[in-house]
Amino acid sequence: MTDITLLPQVTAFLGREHGHYISGRLLAGAGTEKFAVVNPATGQAIAQVVEGGQEEVDAAMQAAFAAFHGAWARVSPMERGNCLMRLADLLQAHREELAQLESLCSGKTIQLARGLEIDMAAQFLRYFAGWSSKISGETLNVSLPSFRGEQYTAFTRREPLGVVVGIIPWNFSIMIAIWKLAAALTCGCTVVLKPSEYTPLTMLRVAELAQEAGIPDGTLNVVNGSGARLGPALIAHPHCAKVSFTGSVPTGIAVGKAAMEQGIVRTTLELGGKNGAAFLADVSVDKMVDGIIEAGYLNQGQICAAAERFYLPDSHIDAVLEKLTQRLGAMKVGSSLDETTEVGPLANEAHYRKVLGLFDKARAEGSQIVCGGHALAGPGFFVAPTAIRATGPDDLLMREETFGPVGTFLAYDDEEQMIAMMNDSPYGLAASLWTNDLSKAMRMIPRIEAGTVWINMHTFLDPALPFGGMKSSGIGREFGSAFIEHYTELKSVMVRY
Ligand code: NAD
Repeated sequence: MTDITLLPQVTAFLGREHGHYISGRLLAGAGTEKFAVVNPATGQAIAQVVEGGQEEVDAAMQAAFAAFHGAWARVSPMERGNCLMRLADLLQAHREELAQLESLCSGKTIQLARGLEIDMAAQFLRYFAGWSSKISGETLNVSLPSFRGEQYTAFTRREPLGVVVGIIPWNFSIMIAIWKLAAALTCGCTVVLKPSEYTPLTMLRVAELAQEAGIPDGTLNVVNGSGARLGPALIAHPHCAKVSFTGSVPTGIAVGKAAMEQGIVRTTLELGGKNGAAFLADVSVDKMVDGIIEAGYLNQGQICAAAERFYLPDSHIDAVLEKLTQRLGAMKVGSSLDETTEVGPLANEAHYRKVLGLFDKARAEGSQIVCGGHALAGPGFFVAPTAIRATGPDDLLMREETFGPVGTFLAYDDEEQMIAMMNDSPYGLAASLWTNDLSKAMRMIPRIEAGTVWINMHTFLDPALPFGGMKSSGIGREFGSAFIEHYTELKSVMVRY
Protein backbone atom coordinates (compact mmCIF):
# COMPACT_ATOMS: atom_id res chain seq x y z
CA MET A 1 0.00 0.00 0.00
CA THR A 2 1.05 3.61 -0.38
CA ASP A 3 0.44 6.84 1.43
CA ILE A 4 -2.97 8.47 1.21
CA THR A 5 -3.15 11.74 -0.71
CA LEU A 6 -3.05 14.84 1.45
CA LEU A 7 -6.15 17.00 1.23
CA PRO A 8 -5.55 20.37 -0.47
CA GLN A 9 -6.70 22.16 2.70
CA VAL A 10 -3.98 20.33 4.70
CA THR A 11 -1.28 21.42 2.27
CA ALA A 12 -2.67 24.96 2.30
CA PHE A 13 -2.76 25.00 6.12
CA LEU A 14 0.84 23.79 6.41
CA GLY A 15 1.94 26.59 4.07
CA ARG A 16 0.51 29.31 6.32
CA GLU A 17 2.50 31.43 8.74
CA HIS A 18 1.90 29.82 12.16
CA GLY A 19 1.97 31.35 15.60
CA HIS A 20 -0.86 31.69 18.07
CA TYR A 21 -4.62 32.11 18.36
CA ILE A 22 -5.59 35.00 20.60
CA SER A 23 -8.89 36.89 20.90
CA GLY A 24 -10.39 35.04 17.96
CA ARG A 25 -7.47 35.73 15.59
CA LEU A 26 -4.60 33.67 14.24
CA LEU A 27 -1.47 35.77 14.56
CA ALA A 28 2.28 35.39 14.27
CA GLY A 29 2.93 37.52 17.35
CA ALA A 30 5.86 39.74 18.12
CA GLY A 31 8.55 37.03 18.17
CA THR A 32 11.42 36.85 15.72
CA GLU A 33 12.52 33.27 16.48
CA LYS A 34 10.86 30.35 14.74
CA PHE A 35 10.87 26.63 15.43
CA ALA A 36 10.26 23.79 13.00
CA VAL A 37 7.51 21.19 13.12
CA VAL A 38 9.06 17.89 11.98
CA ASN A 39 7.19 14.94 10.51
CA PRO A 40 8.63 12.05 12.56
CA ALA A 41 7.95 9.58 9.76
CA THR A 42 10.38 11.40 7.45
CA GLY A 43 12.50 13.60 9.73
CA GLN A 44 11.61 16.53 7.43
CA ALA A 45 10.31 19.93 8.60
CA ILE A 46 6.74 20.50 7.44
CA ALA A 47 6.06 23.94 8.92
CA GLN A 48 7.61 26.76 10.92
CA VAL A 49 6.03 28.34 14.00
CA VAL A 50 6.84 31.72 15.50
CA GLU A 51 7.96 31.31 19.09
CA GLY A 52 5.70 33.01 21.64
CA GLY A 53 6.92 35.21 24.46
CA GLN A 54 5.68 37.37 27.31
CA GLU A 55 3.73 39.61 24.92
CA GLU A 56 1.61 36.70 23.65
CA VAL A 57 1.20 35.32 27.19
CA ASP A 58 -0.12 38.70 28.36
CA ALA A 59 -2.42 39.11 25.37
CA ALA A 60 -3.87 35.59 25.66
CA MET A 61 -4.38 35.78 29.43
CA GLN A 62 -5.97 39.23 29.10
CA ALA A 63 -8.30 38.01 26.33
CA ALA A 64 -9.34 34.98 28.40
CA PHE A 65 -9.89 37.14 31.49
CA ALA A 66 -12.04 39.60 29.55
CA ALA A 67 -14.12 36.77 28.06
CA PHE A 68 -14.51 35.14 31.50
CA HIS A 69 -16.12 38.31 32.84
CA GLY A 70 -17.73 39.30 29.56
CA ALA A 71 -18.72 37.36 26.46
CA TRP A 72 -18.51 33.84 27.93
CA ALA A 73 -20.14 34.87 31.22
CA ARG A 74 -23.14 36.08 29.21
CA VAL A 75 -23.60 32.70 27.50
CA SER A 76 -26.19 30.59 29.33
CA PRO A 77 -25.14 27.17 30.66
CA MET A 78 -27.31 25.41 28.08
CA GLU A 79 -25.80 27.45 25.25
CA ARG A 80 -22.28 26.67 26.51
CA GLY A 81 -23.10 23.00 25.96
CA ASN A 82 -24.59 23.76 22.55
CA CYS A 83 -21.33 25.46 21.54
CA LEU A 84 -19.36 22.34 22.51
CA MET A 85 -21.84 20.15 20.62
CA ARG A 86 -21.36 22.26 17.50
CA LEU A 87 -17.59 22.03 17.92
CA ALA A 88 -17.92 18.22 18.12
CA ASP A 89 -19.91 18.27 14.85
CA LEU A 90 -17.23 20.45 13.23
CA LEU A 91 -14.46 18.07 14.37
CA GLN A 92 -16.32 15.25 12.64
CA ALA A 93 -16.97 17.35 9.55
CA HIS A 94 -13.21 18.09 9.36
CA ARG A 95 -12.22 14.61 10.49
CA GLU A 96 -9.91 13.76 7.62
CA GLU A 97 -8.22 17.17 7.54
CA LEU A 98 -7.51 17.10 11.29
CA ALA A 99 -6.44 13.44 11.25
CA GLN A 100 -3.94 14.12 8.46
CA LEU A 101 -2.51 17.11 10.32
CA GLU A 102 -2.22 15.11 13.54
CA SER A 103 -0.58 12.21 11.76
CA LEU A 104 1.93 14.49 10.03
CA CYS A 105 2.91 16.25 13.27
CA SER A 106 2.98 13.30 15.69
CA GLY A 107 3.60 10.19 13.58
CA LYS A 108 0.33 8.68 14.79
CA THR A 109 -0.96 6.23 12.18
CA ILE A 110 -3.74 7.75 10.10
CA GLN A 111 -6.22 5.08 11.22
CA LEU A 112 -5.54 5.86 14.88
CA ALA A 113 -5.62 9.60 14.22
CA ARG A 114 -9.08 9.28 12.65
CA GLY A 115 -10.62 6.79 15.06
CA LEU A 116 -8.96 7.53 18.35
CA GLU A 117 -7.91 11.15 18.15
CA ILE A 118 -10.76 12.83 16.23
CA ASP A 119 -13.75 10.55 16.81
CA MET A 120 -12.98 10.13 20.50
CA ALA A 121 -12.33 13.86 20.95
CA ALA A 122 -15.80 14.52 19.48
CA GLN A 123 -17.35 11.97 21.87
CA PHE A 124 -15.64 13.50 24.88
CA LEU A 125 -16.80 16.97 23.80
CA ARG A 126 -20.40 15.77 23.65
CA TYR A 127 -20.10 14.15 27.07
CA PHE A 128 -18.75 17.37 28.63
CA ALA A 129 -21.35 19.46 26.76
CA GLY A 130 -24.11 17.56 28.55
CA TRP A 131 -22.77 18.68 31.91
CA SER A 132 -23.04 22.42 31.22
CA SER A 133 -26.69 22.60 32.30
CA LYS A 134 -26.27 20.25 35.28
CA ILE A 135 -23.58 21.93 37.35
CA SER A 136 -25.15 23.23 40.53
CA GLY A 137 -24.83 23.52 44.28
CA GLU A 138 -27.23 22.13 46.84
CA THR A 139 -29.55 23.36 49.58
CA LEU A 140 -28.42 22.33 53.04
CA ASN A 141 -29.84 22.21 56.54
CA VAL A 142 -27.82 24.17 59.10
CA SER A 143 -26.90 21.76 61.88
CA LEU A 144 -26.42 23.96 64.96
CA PRO A 145 -29.42 25.14 67.05
CA SER A 146 -30.56 28.76 66.86
CA PHE A 147 -30.11 30.85 70.05
CA ARG A 148 -32.97 33.33 69.97
CA GLY A 149 -35.45 31.68 67.64
CA GLU A 150 -33.83 33.01 64.49
CA GLN A 151 -33.89 30.74 61.44
CA TYR A 152 -31.16 29.84 58.98
CA THR A 153 -30.98 28.47 55.52
CA ALA A 154 -27.90 27.57 53.57
CA PHE A 155 -26.89 26.61 50.08
CA THR A 156 -23.77 26.03 48.03
CA ARG A 157 -22.86 27.44 44.65
CA ARG A 158 -20.51 25.97 42.06
CA GLU A 159 -18.69 28.94 40.58
CA PRO A 160 -16.29 28.74 37.63
CA LEU A 161 -12.67 29.30 38.63
CA GLY A 162 -11.68 31.81 35.94
CA VAL A 163 -8.90 31.49 33.38
CA VAL A 164 -7.56 27.94 33.06
CA VAL A 165 -4.09 27.37 31.62
CA GLY A 166 -4.04 24.00 29.83
CA ILE A 167 -0.59 22.54 29.15
CA ILE A 168 -0.65 19.69 26.65
CA PRO A 169 1.81 16.88 25.75
CA TRP A 170 2.55 15.68 22.21
CA ASN A 171 1.01 12.23 22.31
CA PHE A 172 -2.64 13.30 21.78
CA SER A 173 -2.44 16.90 20.69
CA ILE A 174 -6.17 17.22 19.98
CA MET A 175 -7.84 14.82 22.39
CA ILE A 176 -6.00 15.89 25.55
CA ALA A 177 -6.49 19.56 24.65
CA ILE A 178 -10.20 18.86 24.15
CA TRP A 179 -10.41 17.25 27.60
CA LYS A 180 -9.09 20.44 29.12
CA LEU A 181 -10.97 22.99 27.07
CA ALA A 182 -14.27 21.09 27.30
CA ALA A 183 -14.01 20.72 31.09
CA ALA A 184 -13.13 24.40 31.48
CA LEU A 185 -15.73 25.78 29.08
CA THR A 186 -18.64 23.64 30.27
CA CYS A 187 -18.02 24.91 33.82
CA GLY A 188 -17.96 28.54 32.61
CA CYS A 189 -14.17 29.03 32.74
CA THR A 190 -12.15 30.32 29.79
CA VAL A 191 -8.91 28.79 28.62
CA VAL A 192 -5.39 29.45 27.34
CA LEU A 193 -3.84 26.32 25.84
CA LYS A 194 -0.10 25.71 25.51
CA PRO A 195 0.40 22.78 23.11
CA SER A 196 3.65 20.82 23.03
CA GLU A 197 6.33 22.44 20.88
CA TYR A 198 6.40 19.17 18.89
CA THR A 199 2.70 19.36 17.97
CA PRO A 200 1.77 23.05 17.86
CA LEU A 201 -0.45 23.09 14.75
CA THR A 202 -3.63 21.09 15.34
CA MET A 203 -5.05 23.29 18.09
CA LEU A 204 -4.67 26.35 15.86
CA ARG A 205 -7.05 24.70 13.41
CA VAL A 206 -9.39 23.50 16.20
CA ALA A 207 -9.47 27.06 17.59
CA GLU A 208 -10.70 28.32 14.22
CA LEU A 209 -13.42 25.66 14.29
CA ALA A 210 -14.34 26.72 17.84
CA GLN A 211 -15.00 30.21 16.52
CA GLU A 212 -17.18 28.73 13.78
CA ALA A 213 -19.04 26.82 16.52
CA GLY A 214 -20.00 30.12 18.12
CA ILE A 215 -17.53 30.15 21.01
CA PRO A 216 -16.93 33.86 21.60
CA ASP A 217 -13.54 35.42 20.89
CA GLY A 218 -11.16 35.27 23.85
CA THR A 219 -12.85 32.22 25.38
CA LEU A 220 -10.27 29.84 23.86
CA ASN A 221 -6.70 30.97 23.14
CA VAL A 222 -3.60 29.09 22.01
CA VAL A 223 -0.03 30.17 22.67
CA ASN A 224 2.85 28.27 21.08
CA GLY A 225 6.50 27.96 21.99
CA SER A 226 8.97 26.56 24.49
CA GLY A 227 7.32 24.97 27.50
CA ALA A 228 10.19 25.91 29.79
CA ARG A 229 9.63 29.60 28.99
CA LEU A 230 5.89 29.89 28.34
CA GLY A 231 4.73 27.43 31.02
CA PRO A 232 6.11 29.37 33.99
CA ALA A 233 5.05 32.70 32.41
CA LEU A 234 1.45 31.51 32.01
CA ILE A 235 1.29 30.10 35.55
CA ALA A 236 2.85 33.27 37.00
CA HIS A 237 0.32 35.50 35.25
CA PRO A 238 -2.02 37.15 37.77
CA HIS A 239 -5.09 36.05 35.76
CA CYS A 240 -4.18 32.34 35.99
CA ALA A 241 -6.80 30.74 38.26
CA LYS A 242 -5.88 27.14 37.50
CA VAL A 243 -3.35 25.09 35.62
CA SER A 244 -4.39 21.79 34.13
CA PHE A 245 -1.25 19.96 33.11
CA THR A 246 -0.69 16.68 31.31
CA GLY A 247 2.87 15.52 30.79
CA SER A 248 5.87 13.96 32.45
CA VAL A 249 6.42 13.64 36.20
CA PRO A 250 9.44 16.01 36.42
CA THR A 251 7.64 18.78 34.51
CA GLY A 252 4.50 18.14 36.55
CA ILE A 253 6.44 18.65 39.77
CA ALA A 254 7.85 21.94 38.41
CA VAL A 255 4.33 23.04 37.41
CA GLY A 256 2.91 22.10 40.81
CA LYS A 257 5.63 24.02 42.65
CA ALA A 258 5.20 27.09 40.45
CA ALA A 259 1.43 27.00 40.95
CA MET A 260 1.75 26.81 44.74
CA GLU A 261 4.28 29.64 44.82
CA GLN A 262 1.97 31.76 42.70
CA GLY A 263 -0.59 32.01 45.49
CA ILE A 264 -2.03 28.48 45.59
CA VAL A 265 -3.12 28.43 41.96
CA ARG A 266 -5.40 25.39 41.57
CA THR A 267 -3.78 22.43 39.79
CA THR A 268 -4.71 19.23 38.07
CA LEU A 269 -1.66 17.12 37.23
CA GLU A 270 -2.05 14.15 34.87
CA LEU A 271 1.41 12.64 34.81
CA GLY A 272 3.35 9.65 33.58
CA GLY A 273 3.56 6.23 35.06
CA LYS A 274 4.96 2.76 34.76
CA ASN A 275 1.72 0.88 34.53
CA GLY A 276 1.54 -2.80 35.41
CA ALA A 277 -0.45 -5.57 33.76
CA ALA A 278 -0.69 -8.94 35.49
CA PHE A 279 -1.93 -12.17 33.95
CA LEU A 280 -3.14 -15.01 36.16
CA ALA A 281 -2.36 -18.61 35.25
CA ASP A 282 -5.94 -19.42 34.18
CA VAL A 283 -5.59 -17.27 31.03
CA SER A 284 -4.49 -19.03 27.82
CA VAL A 285 -1.18 -18.12 26.18
CA ASP A 286 -3.00 -16.72 23.11
CA LYS A 287 -5.22 -14.50 25.25
CA MET A 288 -2.16 -13.29 27.17
CA VAL A 289 -0.42 -12.31 23.95
CA ASP A 290 -3.54 -10.48 22.66
CA GLY A 291 -3.80 -8.67 25.99
CA ILE A 292 -0.14 -7.66 26.02
CA ILE A 293 -0.38 -6.16 22.53
CA GLU A 294 -3.56 -4.27 23.46
CA ALA A 295 -2.06 -3.02 26.72
CA GLY A 296 1.44 -2.08 25.64
CA TYR A 297 1.88 -1.38 21.96
CA LEU A 298 -0.95 0.86 20.70
CA ASN A 299 0.36 4.16 19.28
CA GLN A 300 3.92 2.81 19.69
CA GLY A 301 3.32 2.68 23.45
CA GLN A 302 2.98 6.46 23.59
CA ILE A 303 -0.16 6.39 25.73
CA CYS A 304 0.10 7.47 29.35
CA ALA A 305 -2.08 4.57 30.49
CA ALA A 306 -0.25 1.92 28.41
CA ALA A 307 1.24 -0.98 30.34
CA GLU A 308 5.03 -1.24 30.48
CA ARG A 309 5.53 -3.79 33.30
CA PHE A 310 4.09 -7.22 32.61
CA TYR A 311 3.81 -9.95 35.24
CA LEU A 312 3.38 -13.46 33.86
CA PRO A 313 3.11 -16.81 35.67
CA ASP A 314 6.41 -18.69 35.66
CA SER A 315 4.60 -21.59 33.99
CA HIS A 316 3.60 -19.43 30.97
CA ILE A 317 6.31 -16.83 30.43
CA ASP A 318 8.48 -18.76 27.93
CA ALA A 319 5.54 -19.68 25.69
CA VAL A 320 4.10 -16.15 25.86
CA LEU A 321 7.38 -14.47 24.96
CA GLU A 322 7.91 -16.86 22.06
CA LYS A 323 4.49 -16.13 20.60
CA LEU A 324 4.75 -12.40 21.35
CA THR A 325 8.06 -12.26 19.46
CA GLN A 326 6.33 -13.73 16.39
CA ARG A 327 3.39 -11.33 16.64
CA LEU A 328 5.51 -8.20 17.19
CA GLY A 329 7.87 -9.22 14.37
CA ALA A 330 4.93 -9.56 11.98
CA MET A 331 3.49 -6.10 12.71
CA LYS A 332 3.63 -3.79 9.72
CA VAL A 333 5.96 -0.89 10.40
CA GLY A 334 5.69 2.02 7.99
CA SER A 335 4.60 5.46 7.04
CA SER A 336 1.97 6.99 9.32
CA LEU A 337 -0.05 7.97 6.24
CA ASP A 338 -0.27 4.40 4.93
CA GLU A 339 -3.64 2.98 6.01
CA THR A 340 -2.17 -0.51 6.48
CA THR A 341 0.58 0.59 8.87
CA GLU A 342 0.34 -0.87 12.37
CA VAL A 343 3.50 0.65 13.85
CA GLY A 344 4.49 4.21 13.01
CA PRO A 345 7.51 6.22 14.17
CA LEU A 346 8.10 7.62 17.63
CA ALA A 347 6.78 11.16 17.81
CA ASN A 348 10.03 13.11 17.81
CA GLU A 349 13.78 12.73 17.65
CA ALA A 350 14.47 13.55 21.32
CA HIS A 351 12.04 10.84 22.42
CA TYR A 352 13.50 8.35 19.89
CA ARG A 353 17.02 8.97 21.25
CA LYS A 354 15.76 8.59 24.83
CA VAL A 355 14.18 5.19 24.06
CA LEU A 356 17.33 3.95 22.25
CA GLY A 357 19.41 5.09 25.25
CA LEU A 358 17.18 3.05 27.57
CA PHE A 359 17.81 -0.06 25.45
CA ASP A 360 21.57 0.44 25.92
CA LYS A 361 21.12 0.80 29.66
CA ALA A 362 18.91 -2.34 29.83
CA ARG A 363 21.55 -4.35 27.95
CA ALA A 364 24.32 -3.05 30.20
CA GLU A 365 22.27 -4.11 33.21
CA GLY A 366 21.94 -7.67 31.90
CA SER A 367 18.24 -7.63 30.95
CA GLN A 368 17.48 -9.99 28.08
CA ILE A 369 16.24 -8.29 24.89
CA VAL A 370 13.81 -10.93 23.66
CA CYS A 371 12.93 -9.04 20.47
CA GLY A 372 13.46 -5.56 19.05
CA GLY A 373 15.66 -3.30 21.15
CA HIS A 374 16.96 -1.32 18.17
CA ALA A 375 16.14 1.45 15.72
CA LEU A 376 14.69 0.59 12.32
CA ALA A 377 16.02 1.93 9.05
CA GLY A 378 15.02 5.56 8.51
CA PRO A 379 14.37 8.17 7.46
CA GLY A 380 12.20 8.89 10.46
CA PHE A 381 12.27 7.89 14.08
CA PHE A 382 11.31 4.22 13.94
CA VAL A 383 11.96 1.74 16.73
CA ALA A 384 11.27 -1.99 16.55
CA PRO A 385 8.46 -3.21 18.87
CA THR A 386 10.43 -4.57 21.79
CA ALA A 387 10.05 -7.17 24.54
CA ILE A 388 12.57 -7.34 27.38
CA ARG A 389 12.87 -10.01 30.04
CA ALA A 390 13.90 -8.46 33.32
CA THR A 391 16.28 -10.06 35.76
CA GLY A 392 14.24 -8.78 38.70
CA PRO A 393 11.81 -6.09 39.89
CA ASP A 394 14.55 -3.51 40.29
CA ASP A 395 15.75 -3.55 36.67
CA LEU A 396 15.75 -0.06 35.17
CA LEU A 397 13.02 -0.92 32.66
CA MET A 398 10.77 -2.27 35.39
CA ARG A 399 10.95 1.16 37.03
CA GLU A 400 11.51 3.92 34.45
CA GLU A 401 8.88 4.97 31.91
CA THR A 402 9.98 4.40 28.29
CA PHE A 403 6.75 5.75 26.72
CA GLY A 404 7.67 3.61 23.73
CA PRO A 405 6.75 0.24 22.13
CA VAL A 406 8.53 -1.58 24.92
CA GLY A 407 7.20 -4.18 27.33
CA THR A 408 9.32 -5.52 30.17
CA PHE A 409 8.38 -8.94 31.49
CA LEU A 410 8.87 -10.62 34.83
CA ALA A 411 7.83 -14.09 35.95
CA TYR A 412 6.08 -14.72 39.25
CA ASP A 413 5.10 -17.92 40.99
CA ASP A 414 3.04 -16.53 43.83
CA GLU A 415 0.08 -14.15 43.40
CA GLU A 416 0.76 -12.36 46.68
CA GLN A 417 4.31 -11.66 45.51
CA MET A 418 2.91 -10.43 42.17
CA ILE A 419 0.55 -7.90 43.83
CA ALA A 420 3.43 -6.64 45.99
CA MET A 421 5.60 -6.15 42.88
CA MET A 422 2.77 -4.36 41.02
CA ASN A 423 2.47 -1.89 43.90
CA ASP A 424 6.20 -1.45 44.37
CA SER A 425 6.36 1.66 42.18
CA PRO A 426 6.22 5.38 42.89
CA TYR A 427 3.55 5.65 40.17
CA GLY A 428 -0.10 4.68 40.11
CA LEU A 429 -1.89 5.80 36.96
CA ALA A 430 -3.41 2.57 35.66
CA ALA A 431 -3.15 -1.21 35.93
CA SER A 432 -4.81 -4.27 34.50
CA LEU A 433 -5.50 -7.76 35.76
CA TRP A 434 -6.32 -10.58 33.37
CA THR A 435 -8.14 -13.68 34.64
CA ASN A 436 -11.24 -15.82 34.11
CA ASP A 437 -11.72 -15.91 37.88
CA LEU A 438 -13.86 -12.80 38.42
CA SER A 439 -14.24 -13.51 42.11
CA LYS A 440 -10.47 -13.45 42.56
CA ALA A 441 -10.24 -10.27 40.48
CA MET A 442 -12.86 -8.55 42.66
CA ARG A 443 -10.79 -9.34 45.75
CA MET A 444 -7.60 -8.03 44.16
CA ILE A 445 -9.03 -4.73 42.81
CA PRO A 446 -8.96 -2.86 46.17
CA ARG A 447 -5.36 -3.94 46.71
CA ILE A 448 -4.00 -2.51 43.43
CA GLU A 449 -2.59 1.00 43.81
CA ALA A 450 -3.72 2.69 40.60
CA GLY A 451 -6.25 5.38 39.63
CA THR A 452 -7.80 3.02 37.07
CA VAL A 453 -7.89 -0.78 37.25
CA TRP A 454 -9.01 -2.69 34.18
CA ILE A 455 -10.04 -6.34 34.28
CA ASN A 456 -9.43 -8.29 31.05
CA MET A 457 -8.88 -5.04 29.16
CA HIS A 458 -6.47 -2.10 29.09
CA THR A 459 -6.17 1.50 27.77
CA PHE A 460 -9.91 2.10 27.44
CA LEU A 461 -10.85 5.60 28.58
CA ASP A 462 -14.52 6.43 28.86
CA PRO A 463 -15.68 10.00 29.49
CA ALA A 464 -18.14 8.77 32.14
CA LEU A 465 -15.35 7.33 34.30
CA PRO A 466 -12.99 9.53 36.33
CA PHE A 467 -9.38 9.29 35.17
CA GLY A 468 -6.23 10.29 37.02
CA GLY A 469 -3.26 9.07 38.94
CA MET A 470 -2.52 7.85 42.44
CA LYS A 471 0.90 8.48 44.03
CA SER A 472 3.39 10.30 41.75
CA SER A 473 1.14 9.91 38.69
CA GLY A 474 -0.82 13.02 39.53
CA ILE A 475 -3.39 15.00 41.45
CA GLY A 476 -7.03 15.38 40.50
CA ARG A 477 -9.40 13.55 38.18
CA GLU A 478 -10.67 14.27 34.71
CA PHE A 479 -14.04 13.08 33.29
CA GLY A 480 -17.08 11.63 35.05
CA SER A 481 -18.55 14.23 37.36
CA ALA A 482 -15.23 14.37 39.26
CA PHE A 483 -13.81 17.06 36.95
CA ILE A 484 -16.42 19.60 38.16
CA GLU A 485 -14.72 19.83 41.53
CA HIS A 486 -11.49 20.77 39.81
CA TYR A 487 -12.86 23.52 37.53
CA THR A 488 -15.22 25.23 39.98
CA GLU A 489 -14.96 26.73 43.43
CA LEU A 490 -17.51 25.59 46.00
CA LYS A 491 -18.99 28.60 47.76
CA SER A 492 -21.14 28.19 50.90
CA VAL A 493 -23.89 30.74 51.54
CA MET A 494 -25.72 31.05 54.87
CA VAL A 495 -28.77 33.25 55.44
CA ARG A 496 -30.31 34.33 58.76
CA TYR A 497 -33.98 35.35 58.80
P1 NAD B 1 6.59 17.03 29.02
O1 NAD B 1 6.42 17.05 30.49
O2 NAD B 1 7.95 17.09 28.46
O3 NAD B 1 5.80 18.25 28.35
C1 NAD B 1 4.41 18.45 28.54
C2 NAD B 1 4.07 19.90 28.29
O4 NAD B 1 4.72 20.70 29.28
C3 NAD B 1 4.55 20.46 26.94
O5 NAD B 1 3.57 21.32 26.41
C4 NAD B 1 5.79 21.25 27.33
O6 NAD B 1 6.05 22.30 26.43
C5 NAD B 1 5.38 21.80 28.68
N1 NAD B 1 6.48 22.22 29.57
C6 NAD B 1 7.79 21.90 29.51
N2 NAD B 1 8.46 22.47 30.52
C7 NAD B 1 7.55 23.16 31.25
C8 NAD B 1 7.61 23.95 32.44
N3 NAD B 1 8.75 24.15 33.10
N4 NAD B 1 6.48 24.51 32.91
C9 NAD B 1 5.30 24.30 32.29
N5 NAD B 1 5.18 23.57 31.16
C10 NAD B 1 6.29 23.00 30.65
O7 NAD B 1 5.82 15.72 28.51
P2 NAD B 1 5.75 15.15 27.02
O8 NAD B 1 7.08 14.56 26.70
O9 NAD B 1 5.16 16.16 26.11
O10 NAD B 1 4.66 13.98 27.17
C11 NAD B 1 4.97 12.69 27.57
C12 NAD B 1 4.67 12.50 29.05
O11 NAD B 1 3.32 12.84 29.32
C13 NAD B 1 4.82 11.06 29.49
O12 NAD B 1 5.48 11.03 30.73
C14 NAD B 1 3.39 10.58 29.66
O13 NAD B 1 3.22 9.54 30.58
C15 NAD B 1 2.71 11.83 30.11
N6 NAD B 1 1.27 11.78 29.82
C16 NAD B 1 0.38 11.65 30.87
C17 NAD B 1 -0.99 11.57 30.60
C18 NAD B 1 -2.00 11.42 31.71
O14 NAD B 1 -3.19 11.65 31.46
N7 NAD B 1 -1.63 11.03 32.91
C19 NAD B 1 -1.45 11.64 29.28
C20 NAD B 1 -0.52 11.80 28.25
C21 NAD B 1 0.84 11.87 28.54
